[in-house]
Amino acid sequence: MGAVLPAIALIRPALFPLLSLLLCWLALPHLNTWADDYGILILAAPFILAALCLLLAQVFSQGRIGQMAVLTIASYSLIQWQMQSTLDDPETWWLYFWLTLLFPLNTLFVRFLPDRRPLSPEGMLFPALLLLQAGLLLWLPQHMPAQIPTQRISEWVLTFLRQGDDPLLPLPAMFSFAIAAILLCVRLPRERDIPLAFVGLLILHGLMFWQFDQSYMSALTATLSLLLLLATLLITNHQLAFIDELTSLPGRRALMNDLKHRHGHYLLVMADIDHFKQFNDTHGHDTGDHVLRLVASQLAKTRGGCRAYRYGGEEFTLVFPSMDAIDCRPFIEATRERIAAYPLVIRDKQQRPANNRNGKKQRGRNSGQKALRVTMSFGVARRQKGETIEAVMKRADKALYKAKQNGRNRTEDAV
Ligand code: GH3
Ligand code: MG
Ligand code: MG
Repeated sequence: MGAVLPAIALIRPALFPLLSLLLCWLALPHLNTWADDYGILILAAPFILAALCLLLAQVFSQGRIGQMAVLTIASYSLIQWQMQSTLDDPETWWLYFWLTLLFPLNTLFVRFLPDRRPLSPEGMLFPALLLLQAGLLLWLPQHMPAQIPTQRISEWVLTFLRQGDDPLLPLPAMFSFAIAAILLCVRLPRERDIPLAFVGLLILHGLMFWQFDQSYMSALTATLSLLLLLATLLITNHQLAFIDELTSLPGRRALMNDLKHRHGHYLLVMADIDHFKQFNDTHGHDTGDHVLRLVASQLAKTRGGCRAYRYGGEEFTLVFPSMDAIDCRPFIEATRERIAAYPLVIRDKQQRPANNRNGKKQRGRNSGQKALRVTMSFGVARRQKGETIEAVMKRADKALYKAKQNGRNRTEDAV
């Protein structure tokens, strides 16, 4: 179980993209049949979803998701209004060629653009850029100098890149998709849901362009892409509300929410770093933050089905499901001892190695750097039948106070 949970956490951001691909694969054979009855609905769904996505992106300040919804709906609109003939038509081919090339590049642009709400002066720059691109693509073929034989070039490219009747992504587009997908995946930030959702959108659109001759393909792709964006928006928002940014542990709001849904017995442990104010005063606030992250990662490793939360400041809470204090004690003690034994190497910024490899070597040797230690005190309370959350917390707090009084770096049970 211990190994399964991190594995799920690792692949969770990729679950929605994979799910949409599965849906796409399942829905494709039925599309024509559905279209007889629900044609208008299928074509209109992306506009409704894009409006919803933009509204939520604006309200929750999720600029990137909003911009990606704009890109999705813009390419869908272009396909619906300008590209409804076969790819043998040079005008459609011209748009297809550029759309397949530019879609991934615009996605990359959104990823690295400053995050601004869609309805703000800076947020409007991206839709303006898309309008400019669309304007140029529609304007250029009609105003190209006569001596450039556009039709002959595109026909040549068409025969060169298409085999038989299968539409195949143009070579530049393949590069563009591959490079964008790779760049989205390198240096993934801790909040990787958004870049991974963008990769999902790239895959969906890549498949759509690949199977461009299929009817309703663009509507299906736009619908699934926007659903994926909506799901990502909700997940990201949930994380913003419930996950503590510094330590990546769930915060106090998540703790209260989880406790509200536990009705049986559980064990609540309040944990507090010893003499942390002094530590902060001596080594600085940044080092203090570093320690908070280290302590949090150790607390999160506590076994026995425990869940760790950052209660606030340098206080943490552990919750063990329906267990006796006596059974949990070894797990708490193991964590307490692990934290007390962990050597905190304080790196002097001026002596910091120029590169990471040297840094690793130095850390291995400790190279004269000071290794500090922090300890934690724990107060344990088992929820009695009918006891309120506030009452259990108060008892755990009293036990923690007792642990501090009795010399710190220890665990005490509540009465
Ligand atoms: P005790 O052993 O009795 O718990 O002593 P203490 O110094 O740990 O207790 P106190 O509550 O007086 O100090 C808590 C300190 O935690 C005060 C503040 O400087 C520090 N602190 C709280 N939140 C943060 C944070 O997010 N980052 C950093 N670096 N320090 C924090
Ligand atoms: Mg405290
Ligand atoms: Mg403290």
